[in-house]
Amino acid sequence: MLKNKLSRRTFLSLAGVAGVGAGVAAKTALGITDGFLEDLGEGTVADEVVPTVCEICFWKCGVLAHKKDGRVFKITGNPSHPLSRGRLCPRGAGGPGLLYDNDRLKKPLIRVGERGEEKFREATWEEALDRVAEGFQKVADEHGPEAVGMLYHGAGASFFKTLLHGFGTPNIAAPSYAQCRGPREVGFELTYGEGVGSPENLDMRNTRTLVLIGAHLGENMHNTQVQDFAECLGKGAKLIVADPRYSTAAGKADWWLPVRPGTDIALILGWMHVILREGWYDKAWMQRNTIGLDKLEAHVARYTPEAVFVETGIEPDVIVETAEALSATAPASLVHPGRRVTWYGDDTQRSRAIAMLNALLGNWGRPGGFNMTSNVPIAKTELPAFPEHRPIADKLDGQYIFAGSPLASGLRDATLTEKPYPIKAWMVYGCNLPNVLPNTQKTLDAIQKLDFMVAIDVLPAEVCGWADVVLPECTYLERHDDLIAPWYREPFAALRQPVVDPMGESKPGWWMAKQLAKRLGLEQFFPWENPREMIHARLKASGYNAAQIADVEQRGVILGEPEPLYLPTDYEYEYGTPSGKIEFFSQQLADAGFDPMPTYRRPEMPPAGSFRLLTGRAPSHTFGRTANNSLLLDSYPENELWVNRVIAADFGLLHGGYAMVFGEGDTKTGPIRVKVTERIRADCVYMVHGFGHSARGLSKAHGRGANDSAVTTRYETDPLMGGTGFNVNFVRIEPAPDSSLGGVEA
Ligand code: SF4
Repeated sequence: MLKNKLSRRTFLSLAGVAGVGAGVAAKTALGITDGFLEDLGEGTVADEVVPTVCEICFWKCGVLAHKKDGRVFKITGNPSHPLSRGRLCPRGAGGPGLLYDNDRLKKPLIRVGERGEEKFREATWEEALDRVAEGFQKVADEHGPEAVGMLYHGAGASFFKTLLHGFGTPNIAAPSYAQCRGPREVGFELTYGEGVGSPENLDMRNTRTLVLIGAHLGENMHNTQVQDFAECLGKGAKLIVADPRYSTAAGKADWWLPVRPGTDIALILGWMHVILREGWYDKAWMQRNTIGLDKLEAHVARYTPEAVFVETGIEPDVIVETAEALSATAPASLVHPGRRVTWYGDDTQRSRAIAMLNALLGNWGRPGGFNMTSNVPIAKTELPAFPEHRPIADKLDGQYIFAGSPLASGLRDATLTEKPYPIKAWMVYGCNLPNVLPNTQKTLDAIQKLDFMVAIDVLPAEVCGWADVVLPECTYLERHDDLIAPWYREPFAALRQPVVDPMGESKPGWWMAKQLAKRLGLEQFFPWENPREMIHARLKASGYNAAQIADVEQRGVILGEPEPLYLPTDYEYEYGTPSGKIEFFSQQLADAGFDPMPTYRRPEMPPAGSFRLLTGRAPSHTFGRTANNSLLLDSYPENELWVNRVIAADFGLLHGGYAMVFGEGDTKTGPIRVKVTERIRADCVYMVHGFGHSARGLSKAHGRGANDSAVTTRYETDPLMGGTGFNVNFVRIEPAPDSSLGGVEA
């Protein structure tokens, strides 16, 4: 085995909580080295174990970082933490691969070439921070503080959000809303008066029939949900998977429904038609909890299984059989609301259809459905009021009126159009915008219109190559972030705290934000010396004494007293909707000129010779964030293009060979390895998102596989809340020109 690599087998056993140690190979001059991992064999004993919170993805599992001789050699799940319960997903165990990645940004950088050329010189922190403060101040002086925008991802953004709110701008947006789960939250809010939150309030561990419609548990490795999924299947739950692709979950399913892409709403309305027609629902519960059932019944009358078959390709008897299976175990039946749901531009209505089908199953506040949540109350930080400002510039008057959070794509549009007012500077935190927002060229055009841009990141992702100043942040294993206290079935508050000192000259976000605050005259928003002091102040104000605070640092988590998970039988629950009931018919939508109940509209089909491009995840990767992680790359080194066997034969594509993928205009990506399979419909192709990196500084990820974002030029914007649906994008495929990239007949 190479000294600088764990074998795939070793890594997987590490992810499976086997004891694996690691030694230290030669350090680079900066003290960061990829060559850190050497298998010391089982039984290696840590000389220190530090509890903290994972940030390889946003799920925020509690972890234990095991150290030997000052270096992290293993990460395991914190048994006390409700989101990990002592286990991690494969990515979480790969934390040292990020910590010791030799490609990490090590010093502040200042651009010397053109934007996008990735030409920088190293700078001192003093100079780099001065540049950022000057850049923001100049823009604010000319256009007002609102002309500074922030686009971010991750818990570490909180200090920079405070900084920019204090500066006087509301233009702070996360793509995880309009590009991911926003439509789901709005769809549920319109129906139940509340969203499903994050982590979601799913009692999946007690579900007896589960529907996954476009949700890919098992590929999408939200640790706790995957554990719950395994538990419900282990207890004999029935599984219905509706997906154009035979996913990992479909492999476990009792029914796989290879639904035509873009026709989910028809299928869901068809299920509701059957349940209502057959009277397979709890009438007393509906009476107590819902309004508009009669209108729904009339609305879905035309969505007969036969009519739905024409649209979806799912046989009528299968629609009836699966509707019956769902009803038979209700209310312990659940239609998973999904996570990334930005597909066709009608995504809020699609999510609302899912919310309504769940309502027909009567599963709100019931075992196996949606459980109630509670939290550990933590006192807020006491800060001065933020300044008054103009309204957020993410949309024009009257647009996307149901948006519940700022729209990242809207800020991009405002930057391009200068409407409703100019945005002239961006702070980009932990968010690789060219590969995240649909239509990369539009993002780059917006960046070119900026007077100033700073990128704050751990690795030199593509977005850094377009920044004027790049600030190197240390990883989650080297810093405090603010306390994490979500609403969940088991209330908890968790602490992210440093396991080792920051490597190279990287710095924690807190430190950077405070230094910028000093330069911008905003120190009043950072009254503490360091984040630990702030966390202690919050805990103290919440009633914790010194011994209890020390205990929190020792355990990494505070556990609260859970409220009841389920509503009492016959309880008259007051839902947060205008009517106080679950709303099958939404007067809010009708009043705003939208369909009060979801209506199916046939999506545009790909032209001859083109295919709908679908994307998803690999279990060992968090999209593009882990593509440079040597531990995780070992188990999934590059993405593949799934192509139906018949199509592959027509287009001369060989299994294991390579293809090029072409989008509109001159956009293209690849070469990407071809997976010829019958596990995908013939009208679409599929790849895992997050590969095909072009950033030169990502030495391990560079050029591996294809970048779906590069060919995603078309998208549809949800008229209700501004979400951007990507699955309306069509591509063409061809064998890669280099014959050495050939494969075999499948
Ligand atoms: Fe980390 Fe995996 Fe949990 Fe995400 S799901 S926080 S990557 S352990």
